[in-house]
Amino acid sequence: MDMNATLVQIEPTIESDKLAVLLGGNKQRRLSRSINTKVTTLEQSLDRLIQPRLHYRIVKAKTKDDATVHLEDGVEFRSAKLSRALRDAEKIVCFIGTIGFDVEKEIGRLLDEHKLSEAYILDAMASVAVEDMVEQFHQDMEAKCRNESKTATFRFSPGYCDWPITEQKKLFSVFDAEEIGVELLDSCLMEPRKSISGVFGIAPPGSAPHNPCLHCREKNCTARRT
Ligand code: SF4
Repeated sequence: MDMNATLVQIEPTIESDKLAVLLGGNKQRRLSRSINTKVTTLEQSLDRLIQPRLHYRIVKAKTKDDATVHLEDGVEFRSAKLSRALRDAEKIVCFIGTIGFDVEKEIGRLLDEHKLSEAYILDAMASVAVEDMVEQFHQDMEAKCRNESKTATFRFSPGYCDWPITEQKKLFSVFDAEEIGVELLDSCLMEPRKSISGVFGIAPPGSAPHNPCLHCREKNCTARRT
């Protein structure tokens, strides 16, 4: 199997309303003036520290049944909701993105110096940054698909919805771990910590993306898509 992945480098942006959700902003998703001042200062550090890198591979989907997506290279993803969402997909985009280690080192340094609020805010900013990078990647791929009259499905990550986190191992098996610069720990968490892995499908013209959230009764899910 050809394990070569494509590398893209996307500069993330920190959207203040998303940051406000993580940092407990008010109902209008606004941060207090004191937090805003710290965010502005830390933005310069973050720009210097992040090394955005996202690798992806496009693998043909072989079959899908009620609970499993079978890829042509033998990998099987087990999740009923994922299988449903990818039901029309001919190809599956597997991706792993990270913003690197340096931001974590800086968070550790701030903690060592007992600058707890700066460490907490920088951690939240890094979370928003890696999510934004992955979202931009997904939107770019959606636009490319639209240009070819195809459809990109919603994206999923192991550990969310009904896709167990242990399936990270299968997703990582699609990549050459050394090439992507992200390590999968025994706990199935990733290192660097600010990394996101996932999949979405590419479906032929005329397919409508299936959003499993529309029929899901899970009340407390933070990943719900409207
Ligand atoms: S609401 Fe949450 S659990 Fe339900 S389908 Fe959507 S992502 Fe999955």
